[in-house]
Formats: sequence, structure tokens, C-alpha cells
Amino acid sequence: MTTVQAPPAPPTAIRPRVVARTGLYAVLAVNAAVVAYFFAQAGFASNALIVIGRFFGLYGALVMAFQLVLVARLPWLDRRIGMDRLTSWHRWTGFALLWTLLAHAVFISFGYADGAGVGPVGELVDLAETTEGVLRATVALGIIIVVGAVSARYARRRLAYETWHFIHLYTYVAVVLAFSHQVAVGTTFTASSSATAYWYAVWAVALGSVVLGRAVLPLWRNYRHQFRVSAVVPESDNVVSVHVTGRDLDKLGAQAGQFFLWRFLTKDRWWQANPFSLSAAPDGRTLRLTAKAAGDGSAALRHLKVGTRVFAEGPYGAFTTLHRQKTESLLIAGGVGVTPIRALLEDIEGHTVVIYRVGTDRDAVLYGELRDLAVAKGAELHLVTGPPVPDRLGPRELVQLVPDIADRDVFLCGPPPMMNAVLRTLGDLGVSKPQIHFERFSLAG
Ligand SMILES: Cc1cc2nc3c(=O)[nH]c(=O)nc-3n(C[C@H](O)[C@H](O)[C@H](O)COP(=O)(O)OP(=O)(O)OC[C@H]3O[C@@H](n4cnc5c(N)ncnc54)[C@H](O)[C@@H]3O)c2cc1C
Repeated sequence: MTTVQAPPAPPTAIRPRVVARTGLYAVLAVNAAVVAYFFAQAGFASNALIVIGRFFGLYGALVMAFQLVLVARLPWLDRRIGMDRLTSWHRWTGFALLWTLLAHAVFISFGYADGAGVGPVGELVDLAETTEGVLRATVALGIIIVVGAVSARYARRRLAYETWHFIHLYTYVAVVLAFSHQVAVGTTFTASSSATAYWYAVWAVALGSVVLGRAVLPLWRNYRHQFRVSAVVPESDNVVSVHVTGRDLDKLGAQAGQFFLWRFLTKDRWWQANPFSLSAAPDGRTLRLTAKAAGDGSAALRHLKVGTRVFAEGPYGAFTTLHRQKTESLLIAGGVGVTPIRALLEDIEGHTVVIYRVGTDRDAVLYGELRDLAVAKGAELHLVTGPPVPDRLGPRELVQLVPDIADRDVFLCGPPPMMNAVLRTLGDLGVSKPQIHFERFSLAG
């Protein structure tokens, strides 16, 4: 078959991820400086412990607002940084927030207790009873401690995703309580009209981002596109593809490599939303996901009826050709991680090598499609089978399969142990970080 390849797009001069990350850091740094300015402008209390406590309180409020922006699912940020990285930053700044707010409560309690001649706990109880907003702040802190505890790796791994997520949603209650506490007793908040305006703007942007990214955009998109299941195709005993149609799908802006949070509106499962990547490049008429049965939700997809209404949030993710650095690529899939790789192969330009790592030939779902696409695009396809150990994608094996690997972009998706091993190998082989793009099938924890 003759292959006509479009010339690959030239690599981007400044990497989109660097632009977005630098922008976020810059916004945070500028705000940290503005907060320091307002803090100094408000004047200092005579007790050093109270001064330190207020300082932690202000920065706690700023980190809390930043936390909201990180998980607001704003399309511009998401496409450049990726939801996996954003949720991971959210997780780490979440722990920073917990310690900052604890420090705020401890220093303030000790500071006020110092002057009053009572213990810090008695002082905290007294403040909660007599000072407006302190009780609300104490409840907010309690919620954040609980959320922090269930987000610790040990607890997170033992909780069902939905249970953890439900508890996590209480953070929004904590945000509202913390904000009202700041309005009621924040000395910096009320010190000047510019400080008040600044803090209102910070909270408006943070909460506005969440409302926009998490509610307005998804509702608008689903109203506009009216997604419905158009076909359910078993790919193997435990893998199924679901085709979804809708109105104006060409206006959705989805790209190969991205994923959606899919909620199939059946009687028994409407409450559950699961992330699945597109397993074919969007063609403007249909979207396709391919899911392996990992639990009850993914197993139930096999029984979906054609015509079922779908509420889809997305497209999300930065695992796309937007981040390419080189004109040639290597796509590595492990198991069901083939889904975004299959979509990318359809989309990608320039010479491409595909490595598909599975236990046995029978596990190689979508292999027929990969083979046809590889032929059509003049790509090289290698199916690597065998048990996970010994590692069949070590440095020697990868260089044998792809001698010019260091001059390619590498897109990788597969089970965590395989991904970790391949990422180490890529580093050993001199593939630079900006050339490596990967999608993990987990968002937090
Ligand atoms: C970005 C991304 C893309 C993915 N793409 C695919 C794909 O193309 N094909 C495929 O087979 N699998 C994919 N997965 C994995 C898939 O989402 C889980 O296997 C599925 O959600 C399991 O749900 P369940 O109800 O069957 O099982 P459960 O037993 O409910 O969940 C099993 C585990 O899946 C994870 N999970 C469940 N729901 C969510 C959620 N809403 N958000 C984040 N994690 C969740 C949790 O870690 C949970 O412990 C992807 C995951 C992510 C994060």
C-alpha cells in the first residue's frame, strides 16, 4: 500500500507546558508578594505568636484559593499541564494547606492565651464561643484534617474512589466557612479598602474558576452535544468498546490521547463517573472509549443499551501531539493502556514506531486496528508478549527495536509497574524529559 504522509508540524519553540507552569508560578509569586504587602500594611500585633499566627492564616487562605484553581478543570490549563499533574499538585499543596492552617490555629491560640493567662485549648474554646467566625474556622479546620487524613496514601488506597471523593467534596464547605471567618475577623482583610477588594477578587477568581470548569462548561457541553450510546462492541472477554454520538461533535475540541469522565445515565449507575480515554481519534461524528473490567462500573458497560443518555465531562488531558518536540515518534502501550495510543497513532504525523506490550496474543485488544493503521501510515508495529518478568522493554530491547529512540518523542501508557520501568529506561537511553509524554490511569493518590 502506498503511504502519503503529511509533513509533521514543526516542534513548538516554547513548550506549552512550560508556558502554563511558569504562568501558574508567576501568578502564585505575585499574589504571595501582594499578601505580604497587605500583611505589613495592616500593622503588627504586640504579641509575636499572634503575628505569626495571622501570617499563616493569610497564606493558608491564599493556598486554599490556589488549590481550587488547580482542580477547576479549566481547559487551557488542563490541555497544557494535564489533569494527572494538576491533581498531583493539588494533593501536595493540600498537605501544605493542612499544616499552614494548623500552624495558624496553634499560634493564634497560644498567642491569645499568653495575654489572657489561660491554656491554649481553653483560649481556643473561649474564642470560638465569643468571637464571630472562630467557630466556623474551627469546623473548617476539622473538615480539612479529616480530608487530609483520608487522602493520605494508606487510607486512600483502602477507600472506594466514590467514598473518598464524597468526603473530599466537604472541602467546599470548609472553603466557605474559612472565607466567612476571614471576612469576620481577618485584620488584614479589613485593614484597607484595597486589601478587602484584593481578597474578594482572589476568592471570586478561585470560586468562579471552579463553578465555570466544574459546572457551567460541563452542563453547557452536555446540553449542546446531547451525547448518547450508539453501539456497544465487545473486544474480548473483559474489554468492551462503547461508541457515543451527539450533536456538533466537531465543535467539541477533543483530541486523540484525551479522556472524558463518562457518566452513563442508567437507573443503577447514573451516580458513577469514570475516566476513560478516547480509543479512536475523534472524527466529529462519534467518540469511542474502550474499557477493561476493573470493577463493577467498568464491568457494567458491557450491558449498556444503545440510546442510553451520557453525561460526559471533558475533553481532558495533556497526552496529545500538542507537546511534541521531535518529528518522529515512538508509541508504547501496555495492556489496556493501548486505548489512547491507538487514538494517537491515527492522529500523529511523521514516522512512528509502535510497541504493544501484552501478556499473550489474546490480550492484545484493538491489535487488528493498530495493524491496519500502521500499514496505512507506514508505521512500524511490534507486539511484545510474555510475562511481566523478565522485563522485555529494558534498555537493550528498546534500542534493538528502535535504534534512534533518543531522537523521537515517546508516548507511553500502561500499567504502573511497566510505566515506571520504561520511564527509567528512557532516562538511561538519553531520551530527554520534554520528549517523554505519558498518561497514568489514575488521577490522585
Ligand atoms: C485519565 C484516565 C484514563 C483512563 N482510561 C482508561 C481506558 O481507556 N480504558 C480502561 O479500561 N481504563 C481506563 N482508565 C481506568 C478506569 O478509569 C478505571 O479502571 C475505572 O474507572 C474503574 O472503575 P470501576 O467502577 O470499574 O472500578 P472501581 O472498583 O470503582 O474502581 C477501581 C479504581 O479505578 C479508579 N477510579 C474509579 N473511578 C474513578 C474516577 N472517577 N476517577 C479516577 N479514578 C477512578 C480508582 O483508582 C479505583 O480505585 C483510565 C483512568 C484514568 C485516570
